[in-house]
Amino acid sequence: MSEVLVVGGGPAGAAASLWLAREGHPVTVVEAKEYPRDKTCGDGLTPRAILQLMDMGFDFTVPEFHHIDGLRAYAGDDLMIEMPWPEHTRFPNWGGVIRRRDLDMQLARLAEKEGVTVLEKTTATPVVEEGRLAAVDLQHEGETTRRTPKVTIIADGSMNRFGRELGTARRRDYPMGMAARGYYTSPRSGDRYLESQLDLRDRTGATMPGYGWVFPLGDGTINVGVGLLSTFKRWKDVNTTSMMNDYAAIAPAYWGMSEEFLLGKPVGGKLTMSFSRGPLVGANWLTVGDAAGAINPWNGEGISYAYETGRIAAAVVGEAVRDDDLGLLRRYPQILSDEFGLYYKMARIFVKLIGNPPVMRTLAHTGLRNRPLMEWTLKVMANLLDEDDKHMGERTYDALAAVVRTLPTT
Ligand SMILES: Cc1cc2nc3c(=O)[nH]c(=O)nc-3n(C[C@H](O)[C@H](O)[C@H](O)COP(=O)(O)OP(=O)(O)OC[C@H]3O[C@@H](n4cnc5c(N)ncnc54)[C@H](O)[C@@H]3O)c2cc1C
Repeated sequence: MSEVLVVGGGPAGAAASLWLAREGHPVTVVEAKEYPRDKTCGDGLTPRAILQLMDMGFDFTVPEFHHIDGLRAYAGDDLMIEMPWPEHTRFPNWGGVIRRRDLDMQLARLAEKEGVTVLEKTTATPVVEEGRLAAVDLQHEGETTRRTPKVTIIADGSMNRFGRELGTARRRDYPMGMAARGYYTSPRSGDRYLESQLDLRDRTGATMPGYGWVFPLGDGTINVGVGLLSTFKRWKDVNTTSMMNDYAAIAPAYWGMSEEFLLGKPVGGKLTMSFSRGPLVGANWLTVGDAAGAINPWNGEGISYAYETGRIAAAVVGEAVRDDDLGLLRRYPQILSDEFGLYYKMARIFVKLIGNPPVMRTLAHTGLRNRPLMEWTLKVMANLLDEDDKHMGERTYDALAAVVRTLPTT
């Protein structure tokens, strides 16, 4: 029997299990669905995510993977800037787009090659006794088996049903995102830039509280989406799928988007960000990825943070199992805080500011007229600032960070 059980076979669960198996630990992943399974996502990978995939041994030559050189941002009718991914001492200067059904299946297969047991079409339910995770029931095709792993890693995504039964909850004072995406066929699918619209308007020209994206897949299709944050005043009144249709109507004509080229109905989902879910650890379990609310609030990126928290959790769990000391699991929240705490705290301040559409529009219009400022902003938002390369922008960030450190936790 595996000493470690991972609930959920998305990016967080696959990464956690792969890193544990690589260190020689027996580990089982249970995934409720069968691969290839769909996941509502923009399918975009920044250089941060690429580095994680490289370290795990992902094969980037697969035909489903589309190479991305940078980001194109625009606002209004005339302001547009194209920025290649920055050079960095640690991260590659390229990104990618790949459908989640392909990405997640390939990573699960990679984990299997490293020795992970992957149980598909299997749903895990916690057996809670006196508030403690006593066992895990696995349901597969009508049959239930009970497991008693030493440690359970909860990687069950933003709904976090398994975690909630153990008492995890979302911090309401932290931001949350909502987004919807759909696929279109497009003559510009081979474009090698992610595209982001920073000031959304509806068909009547009125400002909408959110942003839009087009991520080309290189296979004749594009992933089109819109997102908004809970810091926007009207956010509860917004229907993201109709907002998406509005965005498709005003998006640049070169994408060739129109109703007849839409492939299936757009689908929406929640983005749990800034470690808004907790607690992150219990006596014999911990949470990773969206289950921990790990998405970066600066840009809504969650895949890399699912890989990164999965990897950090694997190191912590590996040590606890090897030393037969579950008390070591308690170090996990502090490690996450050291790694991401300050950066996410700054993000929370930023998303409060841009929750006001006129502020967002002013920032977008100022930034898009100033290339150095915009390139720096890209580095900040994609968490690609270089420790060894302190440009002026980075010093500004450090100065801001010093101020934020003195503020009470927001
Ligand atoms: C519309 C939208 C667009 C997005 N765009 C991007 C983007 O472009 N780039 C980016 O980096 N991030 C993006 N994100 C965020 C990203 O999708 C998530 O951060 C990421 O999927 C988190 O991975 P995860 O492994 O934590 O969770 P998930 O990917 O949700 O995986 C959880 C898995 O657990 C399984 N599961 C759940 N409960 C159980 C159970 N009880 N038993 C067994 N299995 C279970 C589920 O079937 C699922 O496969 C987007 C999110 C949304 C909603």
